[in-house]
Amino acid sequence: MAVKNDLFDTASTAGATEFSMNAPDPRASGVEERVLVAPAAPIEGPLDYLAPRDDGPPLRAGDYVLAPLGGRETIGVVWGRPDGPPPAKAKLKPLARRLDLPPMSAETRRFLERAAAYTLTPLGEMVRLATRAPKLDEPAPTRIALRRGPSSEPPATASRRKALEVFEAIAAGRAEVALAPKTLALKAGVGAAVLKALIESGHLAEIALPKDAAYGRFDPDPSQRRAERPLSEIQADAAARLSRLVAERAFGAALLHGVTGSGKTEVYLEAVAECLRQGRQALVLLPEIALTDAFLGRFEARFGARPAEWHSAASGVERRRCWRAAAAGAAQVVVGARSALFLPFRDLGLIVVDEEHDGGYKQEDGAIYNARDMAVLRAQAHDAAAALCSATPSLETWVNAERGRYQGLTLPSRFGPAREPDIGLIDLRENRPERGRWLSPALEAAVAETLAKGEQALLFLNRRGYAPLTLCRACGARFGCPHCDSWLVSHRFSGKLQCHVCGHTESEPKTCRECGSDQLAACGPGVERLAEEAAARFPDAKLALLSSDLAPNQGELKQRIAEIEAGDPQIVIGTQIVAKGHNFPNLTLVGVVDADLGLHGGDFRAAERTFQLLRQVAGRAGRAERPGRALLQTVAPEQPVMKKLIEADEQGFLELLAREREAAGAPPFGRYLAVIFSGPDEKKVWEIAQTFTREAEPIRAIGAELLGPAPAPIPRIRGKARVRVLVKAAKTAPIQAAAKAWSARVKKRNGVRVVFDVDPQSFL
Ligand code: ADP
Ligand code: ZN
Ligand code: ZN
Repeated sequence: MAVKNDLFDTASTAGATEFSMNAPDPRASGVEERVLVAPAAPIEGPLDYLAPRDDGPPLRAGDYVLAPLGGRETIGVVWGRPDGPPPAKAKLKPLARRLDLPPMSAETRRFLERAAAYTLTPLGEMVRLATRAPKLDEPAPTRIALRRGPSSEPPATASRRKALEVFEAIAAGRAEVALAPKTLALKAGVGAAVLKALIESGHLAEIALPKDAAYGRFDPDPSQRRAERPLSEIQADAAARLSRLVAERAFGAALLHGVTGSGKTEVYLEAVAECLRQGRQALVLLPEIALTDAFLGRFEARFGARPAEWHSAASGVERRRCWRAAAAGAAQVVVGARSALFLPFRDLGLIVVDEEHDGGYKQEDGAIYNARDMAVLRAQAHDAAAALCSATPSLETWVNAERGRYQGLTLPSRFGPAREPDIGLIDLRENRPERGRWLSPALEAAVAETLAKGEQALLFLNRRGYAPLTLCRACGARFGCPHCDSWLVSHRFSGKLQCHVCGHTESEPKTCRECGSDQLAACGPGVERLAEEAAARFPDAKLALLSSDLAPNQGELKQRIAEIEAGDPQIVIGTQIVAKGHNFPNLTLVGVVDADLGLHGGDFRAAERTFQLLRQVAGRAGRAERPGRALLQTVAPEQPVMKKLIEADEQGFLELLAREREAAGAPPFGRYLAVIFSGPDEKKVWEIAQTFTREAEPIRAIGAELLGPAPAPIPRIRGKARVRVLVKAAKTAPIQAAAKAWSARVKKRNGVRVVFDVDPQSFL
């Protein structure tokens, strides 16, 4: 099995042969047909089954079936026909039945195979991701409607005549019209019995229509549209290049790099239009948080229809509708969060990854993948274009564009009168807040100035809750999570202490657990505490506090964001939930309370992430006519990341990062593979980690370096001990193949989980 290491060249892994359309039906020769099926379960390869005992046509690759597996029936996808003789002795089971779904395209199957090989995830896990919609094993839901029947005789009674007249009036001569029986009964003022009689007499006929409403048709070229909003020359050039990539119907990737507000969305909507002209489907991926009504509304304004949506807050019905329409090719455009990448598109021509640098694209539970990288892989499998868009691209993507692997498209300035905000630093060593306060006099003055002009200020602190630590003044005890090596964060609004690692909550204690003293002190700020301070300092200003835990549902969050857009609250206090995607026209000041927050800890991407996040937050200021500014409070203004931020020298910062990473052999110039060992029994966990280290011959054979085993940065989560081994390899080393060989040498033990994370993003 050849598994190559690179995203751009990953070989197929499954040993299946494609069915030929003309293959003779094996049942004709009296031999029972065998098929390979990849069940949606954590299983490495496709399994051997017998065809279902029905009289349907031979199964073809891509058909969906129900397969018996471990005493249950699991949805699966036919992957091909087995090559060799049946497994000795094994009694092959027949498939339970086939499902009435449009077959999964060969391109989608190729993608799932490559994604499984790249991420070291069993193929079945990928099939599971691709079949995560409700009720796929049931027929598409239908509703009964009435259409015209064959009879042309006059109906026998007055009420029947009346009902038929009403039907004809609504039909207004259209041949294909169909009405819900309820509607007709209501409009004609007749009962169900009358309609039944009309059906029996052949005046009306019942038909089953799909229950899920069809998505509106997208019009790529509404006549009015472009005349009203012409693209600037630079936008038009980027749009033309991106559209050309789509029109080529071959794999190609581009980085669309432009400051917030430069028109990246306008530009990629043009590429979506080209994709529609090509008759192919388009997928637009967004970080979950950016999936707002305002955003979806832009599609409607551009194309006259709303796209299909796929995200965690969508209802089961909505997901079913989207999945089936994607599979049938009826959903022309899907807008979704990272898992939308696994929808079974029929003919995908373009994948847009908006905010491609966003950490939310990395899925860390279950199947571990980075949706941005998988988008590129999927575009390859479909001979499609991938457009990675960002105001602050990841170093990986930027380097790919610099080296010409991706087309680099740049929009250098904001569209229209809006300018990029000026970024300034406040040195907290000189400009100190009062004791127990977090806003420096300089930042307070700036807020006061902004309010005086009738404009909005945003105070940004990327930490939920009231205080990150509670301490007993009498005995020094700190309140930790009983299940994790982490401190409990105090949430005053809910009166709870909460672990931000595992979610454990307990009510906020009045006295110390250790000594009983009531001298408890909250240490450090969270957004709730900041809100308290701002309210005390600016008692007349209306405040809005935005934090994911304080906005219990999507609807309420949307409501608050709409209020901020309308300019109502004067001071907005928020975590990174406010950093992305929104457009607040009256906001002219952004104050970053702790610009150094993300720089602590040992993550090699800390500076890169801080740069991205702070530029993104700063970008909330001055999006309309009024100029904006951002002030960053820091204790280390001499750090390169702070310098480059105030100089607005992104190019210089990325070059600096690239040099550092290249010298260190770190991504994207080298690669990491993290192996996390975890389990309730710490001793066993260490033993397995050490066995892996001893048996690491296949890893050493590719010239990779082994770091660890060492306690993971959070050594205990949810009561499980965690040990980490980090593999550092050259960019071109065949790391997946080596990891497979490595894993195969070690006997697994019950109670110890071993997780491989290729290209790790989080170093918890
Ligand atoms: P980005 O995606 O880079 O943040 P957007 O595409 O959202 O930028 O554009 C920022 C704002 O400028 C939006 O309100 C958008 O409608 C407007 N805009 C951008 N380009 C044009 C254009 N060519 N004509 C009219 N409005 C534009
Ligand atoms: Zn105490
Ligand atoms: Zn915890």
